This record gives sequence, C-alpha cells and structure tokens, in this order.
Amino acid sequence: FSPWTDPDAVPFIRFENVTKRFGDFVAVDDLSLDIYEREFFSLLGPSGCGKTTLMRMLAGFEEPTSGRILLQGQDLSGVPPYKRPTNMMFQSYALFPHMSVEKNIAFGLEQDNLARGEIDARVQEMLKLVKLEQFAKRKPNQLSGGQRQRVALARSLAKRPKVLLLDEPLGALDRKLREETQFELMDIQTKLGLTFLIVTHDQEEAMTVSDRIAVMDKGILVQVATPAEIYEAPNSRYVADFIGDINILEARVEAKESQGSEDLVRIDSDGVKITVEQTCEANKGDAVAFAIRPEKVRISTTQPEGAVANALHGEVWDIGYLGDFSVFIVRLDDGRMFRAAQANVARLVDRPITFGDMVWLSWSADAGLVLTR
Ligand code: ATP
Repeated sequence: FSPWTDPDAVPFIRFENVTKRFGDFVAVDDLSLDIYEREFFSLLGPSGCGKTTLMRMLAGFEEPTSGRILLQGQDLSGVPPYKRPTNMMFQSYALFPHMSVEKNIAFGLEQDNLARGEIDARVQEMLKLVKLEQFAKRKPNQLSGGQRQRVALARSLAKRPKVLLLDEPLGALDRKLREETQFELMDIQTKLGLTFLIVTHDQEEAMTVSDRIAVMDKGILVQVATPAEIYEAPNSRYVADFIGDINILEARVEAKESQGSEDLVRIDSDGVKITVEQTCEANKGDAVAFAIRPEKVRISTTQPEGAVANALHGEVWDIGYLGDFSVFIVRLDDGRMFRAAQANVARLVDRPITFGDMVWLSWSADAGLVLTR
C-alpha cells in the first residue's frame, strides 16, 4: 500500500499553502501536504508545533488564515464542521457520563435524525467492531480507560466519516494497553477502509501505526515519509534527533567522490575521520553533521581487523540495560560521548564488556548518514 509513490494518484486530502496565524503568532506556516485515501497518516512533533491546529482546520473548527484545504478535490473553505465528512475523536474522549455505552454511540446518529432501526443496527455493528457488546448498558464510569477509549472510537466511527481525526487517541492509556490498542486501531482502520489522521507526540506510536508520518517543527513540515524512511534516512538533525536514539557529530566535508549511484563522502569531525557512502548534496568544505544509530555501531574490546571504514576508540562510561538491548555509553579518547547498542542475544552473565573497558566502536561506510541541515 503506497499510493504516494504513484505520480497519477489523486490525493484524498490536500493542504495547499495553508497558513494559520493567531494574532502575530504563526501556528502553521505555508504548509502543503497530500494524504491519500485509506492512509493511516500521523502528524508528529513536539508540543506546540501546530499539529492540532492543522487537524482542527481539516475538521472545520478553525479556518486557515490563507491557503486552502481540499477533500476529494472539493474546497472546504466555509464548510461548517458538521457538513464535512470528517469526525474528530478527542483525547479526553468527551463521553456523556450519564448515558450508557450504547446511548453514547447512538447520540450523534440521533442528532442526525436517522431512523431508529438504522441507529440500532449501527450501534450493534460498532459495539461488535470495538468488542464491547457485553458492556452496552454500562455507564462510562463503570469502564476501564481502554474500554472508554473504544467507546469514543465507536462513537466517532458510527457516523461513518470518510476521515477519522484522532487527537492523541491513546494518550490516557498505560504503555501495555496503548500498544495493544495501537494494533486494534490499525485493524479497524484496515477493516473499514477509512483514512485515519492521527496527532501524536509519541514517536514510537507514530512508527507503529502509520503508513506515513509528517514530522513538524514550529508550524513547518520538516519531512513526510514512511516510518522506515524517517528512521533510516532522516533529512535533518531535527528529525534524526526526534525519532529514536542517534549519535550526532558536527563535521566538515573533506572530499566527495562519485561512485556510480552513490557518493563516497569523507568528513572530519574535530580530527576524527569518517567515511560515508550515500548520495549527498554537500560539497567539499561544507559544514554537515554525521549521524548514526547506536544499533549500527559494533562494539568490541579488540581492534577491528581488515578494511574497516570507521573506527573510534574509547572507554565504557555507562551501560543501560533495556532487556532486549544494552546501550553502551562510550567516552571517546577526545572526551566526546558516543553510544553503541547491542542485542542481548547471549545471557547477561556471559557479556564480556563492562564498565571501564577500553573498546573499539566501528561501522561500515553505508551505516551512517551525512546530514546537510
Ligand atoms: P500539543 O501537542 O501540545 O497539542 P500541537 O503541536 O498540537 O501541540 P497546537 O495545539 O496546534 O500545537 O498549537 C500550536 C501553537 O498555536 C501553540 O503555540 C499554541 O499556543 C498556539 N495556539 C493554538 N490555538 C490557539 C488559539 N486559539 N489562540 C492563540 N494561540 C493558539
């Protein structure tokens, strides 16, 4: 499923040079973005970057200061929220406390004056979808957090929106339930064939559920890509640092040679020489950053043999035990800190590397990245 790679695909939702100002403050800055039908799309970024504002404009709760939003080619300017084929599920769930689960789900349908039979059928369908059939008569305060979340989801879906907007939908759940619910959400989205747009500041959540992610910073779109691309090929220090753990060293390009489709880039970071294989826009003399994920760095107490492109030497300063992985924080000979992660395949008691060990960190030329911004 990757309609965004098809040049002829027609976007389902299009943000066209959308700007939103609140007084002098620019919350969303000249943002253009296409989302395709049936996509599970995430808006990701730190608090205040404009994610919710962008979603509220799509829902019709805010109008853009300039630019347009199109849905299936139709300009949504001036269309009130209740006439848009979108529905928004809020983080607070906003359930009616005095109404039973089934009444909560039926509420929006009653407002729309649907026939009783149709309402009952849809409520049953939704209860089944979110696996709450036996809880139909309960009130929200007789439910767990996860069950309440599912009622809110059922209520948002009952009106059969074309696009479901989810604002931090799992924010109130504990970690385990959150992970389970992420898979339920994906399952429901696929079953119903709907377009989901989710706002989150949780990068792991965005990575798990999304077909594509838009990373935002101060009202600007920094990168739009699949989770794997965002993780493996971040386009900037900002994205690299925001998603997952990464080592970043400031550096300068010393040489660049073309090697067929890729470049061999030699960079220098305060005397440390690093070689990177990638297609690279930077040229000799440019200030860049070198970035590498800790799990791509090998750690060894012996000097790597043979033609190793990149090797650093230092002392094990700290070890973080994460169960599946251990992270080694190494103080390089020049005093800078660098992280290497190793899967805990063997039992911990067998691990040869410990605090104070002098170690070598090494990686191949295609494991790291040169970042130009
Ligand atoms: P969070 O994750 O905290 O919800 P966000 O990325 O969703 O953050 P927004 O809610 O879109 O951020 O807000 C973006 C910026 O716009 C914030 O600085 C916020 O204070 C500001 N803002 C949002 N709504 C208004 C408003 N009605 N009036 C003035 N400023 C606003």
